[in-house]
Amino acid sequence: MPVVAGPARSNARDMQHILILMSDTGGGHRASAQALKAGFDERYPRRFHIDIIDLLSDYLAWPLNQVPKAYPFLSNDAPWLWKLLYGGGGHRLSRVLARLGGRMSVKRVGACFDAFQPDLIISVHPLMQHVSMLALARLARRIPYVTVVTDLSTCHPLWFHPAVDATYVASDHSCALARQAGLDASRLHLFGLPIRPAFARPTRARPELRRSLEMDQELPAVLLVGGGEGVGPVEEIATQVALRLANGGAPVGQLVVICGRNKAMRERLAARRWPVPAFINGFVDNMPEWMAACDCIVTKAGPGTIAEALISGLPIILSGFIPGQEEGNVPYVLDNGVGEYCADPAGIAAIVARWFGEERAHLDAMAAKARAMGHPQATFQIVDSIVALLEAE
Ligand code: UDP
Repeated sequence: MPVVAGPARSNARDMQHILILMSDTGGGHRASAQALKAGFDERYPRRFHIDIIDLLSDYLAWPLNQVPKAYPFLSNDAPWLWKLLYGGGGHRLSRVLARLGGRMSVKRVGACFDAFQPDLIISVHPLMQHVSMLALARLARRIPYVTVVTDLSTCHPLWFHPAVDATYVASDHSCALARQAGLDASRLHLFGLPIRPAFARPTRARPELRRSLEMDQELPAVLLVGGGEGVGPVEEIATQVALRLANGGAPVGQLVVICGRNKAMRERLAARRWPVPAFINGFVDNMPEWMAACDCIVTKAGPGTIAEALISGLPIILSGFIPGQEEGNVPYVLDNGVGEYCADPAGIAAIVARWFGEERAHLDAMAAKARAMGHPQATFQIVDSIVALLEAE
């Protein structure tokens, strides 16, 4: 049996221990894990000790521990290969790979669970269920296990395992997919995506917010983001949008760009002179404030950003998507009438100009629809439901 590092929790003897399984394939799984941890800490202070682990990178053997490292290349530079691995043969290829990986890893995962001795396990990653169920079946002690799906609409079938105690999904479509995969309705819950608790709190009034962010009080504002890593053609979009909103020297809008961890892009954009009021940021910790201060958002189809934009009442222009897991987010936005899809930077600029101009009433109507679709309390509802499950043990 491999030797596995356990938790450091000498001061946590009176607390119940929750182990959250995630992996850094994209930023969303860690963000959801952290949102849940924050939800437990806020709702049930000092009752739970929570460890978040990257099961793939830190506990599995080669080549499975290389998956998180390969993910940025696969999703951004070789989307055809990612599409094949994700959905090839009607998802048969990924199922076979997961089964193989599960067999290779079951001892290591069992040793990990033994070392942590959790009272409950939460998975926020599609590759955890199969191997965890194999490992748990070999343990002497029963450990309740729940899955929190971090995809918004379309979900890979590997998310769903009928043996888990509860599965939390974010949309009707995901719910239907889970039922098709054989999950019992009594173990299936629809609350929304686990978003950090800051989005559940009311923000300051817009004039005050804009003053503190040093934005123009009157001009409508468009927010440009490219996920946590600042990926995609954010720079080209910013250029085109600014040009269009400049309106020949009488600006009809202002621009906020959030470059995330893409420092090079932030430096390039910050060094430029802009024809409209422009606010160029690196990674920000106050996303709820920037969203509340703006009138619409341009983003890739990341589930976290979409869910946060809906809560904030921001109509959405989707500028691209990662094949596979983000694909279904496009019809989710379009069919619900809360935005448009456009991959061309000049086309995006034209949409923003329309929304801030002759289609202002349409923009306001979409904002109201977005707000009605948002689930600001989802994290707390998920946390409460998990605690109820633990109490019923
Ligand atoms: N984010 C943030 N600060 C930044 C950029 C992004 O807090 O400067 C957050 C954003 O609010 C969202 C997450 O990063 O919660 C991005 O998640 P998404 O699912 O949209 O994309 P990913 O980066 O996971 O592909």
